[in-house]
Amino acid sequence: MAIQKTKRDFPLDRIRNIGIIAHIDAGKTTTTERILFYTGKTYKIGDIDEGTTVTDWMEQERERGITIVSAAITTLWKDTRINLIDTPGHVDFTAEVERSLRVLDGGVIVLDSSSGVQSQTETVWRQANKYQVPLIAFSNKMDVVGADFHGTIQSARDKLGANAIAYNLPIGKENEFKGVVDLLTKKAYIWEGDPSTTLGTSDTGAKFDEVEIPQDMASDVEKYREKLVEEISGTDDVLMEKYLGGQQISVEELKKALRKAVIENKIVPVLAGSSLRNKGVQPMLDCVVEYLPSPQDIASVSGLDPKSGEVSERKADPGVPLSALAFKIQVDPHVGKLTYIRVYSGTLKSGTYVYNATKQIKERVGRLLLMYANDREEIEEAYAGEIVAAVGLKDTVTGDTLCIESAPIILESINFPDPVISLAIEPKTKSDQEKLGYALNRLAEEDPTFRVKSDPETGQTIIAGMGELQLEILVDRMKREFKVDASVGQPQVAYKETITKPAEGEGKYIRQTGGRGQYGHCLLKIEPLPRGQGREFVSEVVGGAIPREFIPPIEKGVIEKEDTGVLAGYPLTDIKVTVYDGSYHDVDSSEIAFKIAGSLGLSDACKRADTILLEPIMKVEVTTPEEFLGEIIGDLSSKRAQILSSESRGNARVVIALVPLAEMHGYATAIRSMSQGRATYYMEADHYEPVPKNITDKIVESSGFTGRVEH
Ligand code: GDP
Repeated sequence: MAIQKTKRDFPLDRIRNIGIIAHIDAGKTTTTERILFYTGKTYKIGDIDEGTTVTDWMEQERERGITIVSAAITTLWKDTRINLIDTPGHVDFTAEVERSLRVLDGGVIVLDSSSGVQSQTETVWRQANKYQVPLIAFSNKMDVVGADFHGTIQSARDKLGANAIAYNLPIGKENEFKGVVDLLTKKAYIWEGDPSTTLGTSDTGAKFDEVEIPQDMASDVEKYREKLVEEISGTDDVLMEKYLGGQQISVEELKKALRKAVIENKIVPVLAGSSLRNKGVQPMLDCVVEYLPSPQDIASVSGLDPKSGEVSERKADPGVPLSALAFKIQVDPHVGKLTYIRVYSGTLKSGTYVYNATKQIKERVGRLLLMYANDREEIEEAYAGEIVAAVGLKDTVTGDTLCIESAPIILESINFPDPVISLAIEPKTKSDQEKLGYALNRLAEEDPTFRVKSDPETGQTIIAGMGELQLEILVDRMKREFKVDASVGQPQVAYKETITKPAEGEGKYIRQTGGRGQYGHCLLKIEPLPRGQGREFVSEVVGGAIPREFIPPIEKGVIEKEDTGVLAGYPLTDIKVTVYDGSYHDVDSSEIAFKIAGSLGLSDACKRADTILLEPIMKVEVTTPEEFLGEIIGDLSSKRAQILSSESRGNARVVIALVPLAEMHGYATAIRSMSQGRATYYMEADHYEPVPKNITDKIVESSGFTGRVEH
């Protein structure tokens, strides 16, 4: 593999950092793969069904036909460097999607023309909105039976509230889908012939020709062009005036205004295509270059100056001090640990030291690499706006900010949801035990939603994450890549505990027989917080009833108790604890005594606060042929499900329901046997809800949890 060192070859406005986002099965992998082919950085069309795509290089991904890990891949199109940040399609990994959205500047949302906007598309859309990521939409699978371009646009408008509008029109549909008409330029393109013969004849991929607009489309082209022009003009005062005055507006003017409107999230242009049939992908790439923002178009990034605590801004300028975010750790089979970094300001140089402001340590950047689909290029410097992989960073993890020590900044980190499912792992031998810790740490480094802890009661190692599939894959990697032999327990739901009413409690830890004693004493108030607020601790102690230095130990004791729970051993959440009084002893008081008092005080207060269990509720979407609908709904109902909707989508039925995660164990197998393998489902964590009383009792009983504090 040739590695050459290169200096900057792309100005900032010729860089696009984008992600391809979609509902599972909409065609994200196929589309990404086609892009890599047309952009000349891969040489053989891989086919996802055969499991040879470029982005899905990990073994598990190939086997399962899904994309798990976001990798940044550099490609070139029309003198523009497009960094493709791959986002996972499976919903266990929404945190990965969120992580990628944080660092990209724009996105292509792939929709399935035969089923319009699906639930997960809504989720991704919401996430994209949260980070204000400008989008264009690709209405894929125009070749399948039931493909409906305008219906897809309408569903994006209705369900997402997006100002989605046709940018081009499909020529033909289903079997007859041949090409597209560009509405602004009124040029028609068709992709001829069997793609497998056309492909490879040109180094830019599938060939297409410009043709006359088919006669039967002429009036549609006028109609939809008018709509597009009106919509674009509506975003720009000067154009609006021209439009209302009946004046001609040039294509250049329209493109310029559309670019601005897309970047401001006012318009989402929609393009028709079929990635599998190699049709319509190149015009979509043109739109990426024409309408999605370059790093220059993005407002400057802001962060906190850790010295002054003040907000500070950094412009996407290579000349200002460095600020960069580590957004992904990946172990590459050839070069070892890679840290993917988005540089927001300044210049990152290979072979130099950077300051990790999050961890307050210095780290040496060894080499900097641009990762192509099947090649990599070593570069000396990465400038503001670029995405690179660094070799040599040891302690930097996802979400850390890199900068220079004299101008420190901490960029907003990435928020990850709490895990909803866990399982116990038991290494087989002593040597497995040793390897286990190492393996789990490495895996946790790569995936921030994956947590490792040890159970304080049993001493077992517990891993936790966002779904069964995620844990299954991680266990698989642990065995395969790290050769750890271990037995694995059943997946367990990650319940939480909370209180339902305010209460007060007293914690006293006093031992004063002979010698130096122990004296810690506090009075606590506890109150429920709104769902999802987490925990709060405040001190209202006045007049030195408890000396200031003993407040932090009380908080420590409270947190320890909150972590281990009081009912069934699950962490307490949505609770505010206020220490308001207490007493101390000049000689016998110590940090440890107050820590124990804090812990005891919380236990005591919880006895009067009606503690309950909360369980994760999943949003489940099942797609099934009509004939299995009855059985599927019946089964869901027996699972304490709340059916939200059931609607037709093409010739399938889609049921959306809220179901407690505890009831979903083994659902993949169950649904297969209920539907002869023809129904599919996906689910994602939606919210936490109280567990019904009779079930709570069972959980508490089987937990064998005493909740006692032993000292
Ligand atoms: P992802 O889950 O979004 O990554 O979707 P994939 O790219 O894996 O595609 C899911 C399935 O749809 C695969 O079997 C693809 O071959 C198929 N597919 C993708 N794009 C098209 C298309 O344009 N037309 C048709 N007919 N099938 C497609």
